[in-house]
Amino acid sequence: MVKIRIIALLIAIFLFGCQQKKEYQNMEDKFTLVIHGGAGTILKKNMTPEREQAYKDILQESLITGHTILKNGGTSIDAVEAAVKVMEDSPLFNAGKGAVFTHDGKNEMDASIMDGKTLNAGAVSSITCIKNPIQLARSVMEKSPHVMLTGDGAEQFAKENGFEFVDPSYFHTEFRWNQLEKAKQSDVALLDHSDNVGEDNSIYDEIQKEKKFGTVGAVALDKHGNLAAATSTGGMTNKQFGRVGDSPIIGSGTYANNNTCAVSCTGHGEYFMRAVVAYDISAMIEYNDKSIEDAANEVIMKKQVDLGGEGGIIAVDKNGNIALTFNSAGMYRGFVKADGNIQVDIYK
Ligand code: ASP
Repeated sequence: MVKIRIIALLIAIFLFGCQQKKEYQNMEDKFTLVIHGGAGTILKKNMTPEREQAYKDILQESLITGHTILKNGGTSIDAVEAAVKVMEDSPLFNAGKGAVFTHDGKNEMDASIMDGKTLNAGAVSSITCIKNPIQLARSVMEKSPHVMLTGDGAEQFAKENGFEFVDPSYFHTEFRWNQLEKAKQSDVALLDHSDNVGEDNSIYDEIQKEKKFGTVGAVALDKHGNLAAATSTGGMTNKQFGRVGDSPIIGSGTYANNNTCAVSCTGHGEYFMRAVVAYDISAMIEYNDKSIEDAANEVIMKKQVDLGGEGGIIAVDKNGNIALTFNSAGMYRGFVKADGNIQVDIYK
């Protein structure tokens, strides 16, 4: 009798082990990375083939970097940080090296990161001389008891944690400087979509043509079933008075929760903050059992459109389903799954 019981127990343990292994293998097949390099009025007619290729090259490099980490069993938090860092190091995107200028001719950057397993999060805002803001956001998450540090205080924290400082001139690019000059001539912040440009709309039109929210972001699901999200930005050209947008705000620009999904946003921050976009998508999955695609569509194509907000999101859910949803003309974006096939796109 005892023998039979022991045999039954061993069989049960064996079957449980097989089940666990199967689930683990399933997760192994589902690891996914999705990235964006900002949304906005991105039209093929305004792009040269060389410039288009340059964007695609960096998007690919970012995806390969994050995918390599995930493929080797690394964590989603490592993958999103590394993927974002690649785009921060490029002058093409409005984050890190390519950050836009404030009204006062400075570069003030914001970033945030969130771990869906622990719901830990870190963010920095209005920082001016840290080469990779996303790395500082991660340090805030891991090495401080806080979620967000801002300005001088964030840089003091960076100093104490051995961060690489760069001269603010590192962030100066001609392209962004010219954008600021144009925005100042027309006396509108790129934030301001109102009609206060007077009779002559030509400069305003030109600015609108370049209206790109080049923020960068990444979301990932790793082989262990953990989700993570990261976002980094220079904010909006010609921003004033210490303005901070949605990107460093957990729940607005960035959110990750292993029970639902990971989301990173890009677009007109004020609207994304009012609508708490990233968390709203997660909440729709949690409380309404929506699919990631339906939740993203409802928030970006309906709620944001009704509110007047322009931009988009990338998201991945706990099963590896993805959404790349935007209500603007284009969004620099891409994804890669376990099969290693990389897809990048720019226009609608
Ligand atoms: N969401 C960012 C902000 O409002 C801008 C962007 O996405 O490019 O600061």
